[in-house]
Amino acid sequence: MSPIGIFGGTFDPIHYGHLRTAFEILQALRFGEIRFVPSGDPPHRDQTIAKADLRFDMVCAATAAEAGFVVDDRELRRNGPSYTIDTLSAMREEFTDRPLGLILGMDAFLGLASWHRWDELLDYAHIVVAHRPGWQAPDIGPLGELLSEHGTHRVDNLHEHRKGFIHIHAVTQLEISSTEIRDLIGAGRDPRFLMPDVVRDVIMNSGCYK
Ligand code: ATP
Repeated sequence: MSPIGIFGGTFDPIHYGHLRTAFEILQALRFGEIRFVPSGDPPHRDQTIAKADLRFDMVCAATAAEAGFVVDDRELRRNGPSYTIDTLSAMREEFTDRPLGLILGMDAFLGLASWHRWDELLDYAHIVVAHRPGWQAPDIGPLGELLSEHGTHRVDNLHEHRKGFIHIHAVTQLEISSTEIRDLIGAGRDPRFLMPDVVRDVIMNSGCYK
């Protein structure tokens, strides 16, 4: 059974950096599907700018044309902080025998040691780290240790085991961030070509970043 990729984020808004990363992982690592999981109340960051239902609509619109992409709204339906460990344990119950792969950009991986019950994440899933421009893999500290104990270059490990490996995957570097997109729109500029037109339409029609 092919692995399910779990791609969490605020997606405020979703952009081509997210979509291309997910697509390359889907294809290059031979994953069965990528689940986009928009977070409801992210514990590590300020309030989102766009409301949850709008972020969800943008993710649905952006992913609709790719059969391997699925949108999962479980964090939006759950009350309280959106802890990834809760999402992984719920998915593990649902997909008992299937490998799961939590997808993180390198920036997110470098902050992992501050996450709620971070040292249990590999009990539920693999971690796939996507290279992002300007970030380097840790070689010291708790994450350096985690990487030396659990790191693998072998993609088959992600298929043959349900959890427990960390794989760093180089993706096409698209230096796009949601923050920059929000700033750009706030400055009255057009975000066209940084995201699918259907996402831009939601932004323009709702005025959510004005
Ligand atoms: P913000 O600028 O608001 O922090 P973001 O663009 O980093 O947003 P998030 O929704 O916070 O987007 O990110 C979700 C996940 O996608 C994270 O794991 C992040 O590392 C990853 N990610 C975001 N942008 C890119 C990109 N351009 N290339 C690869 N991964 C990315």
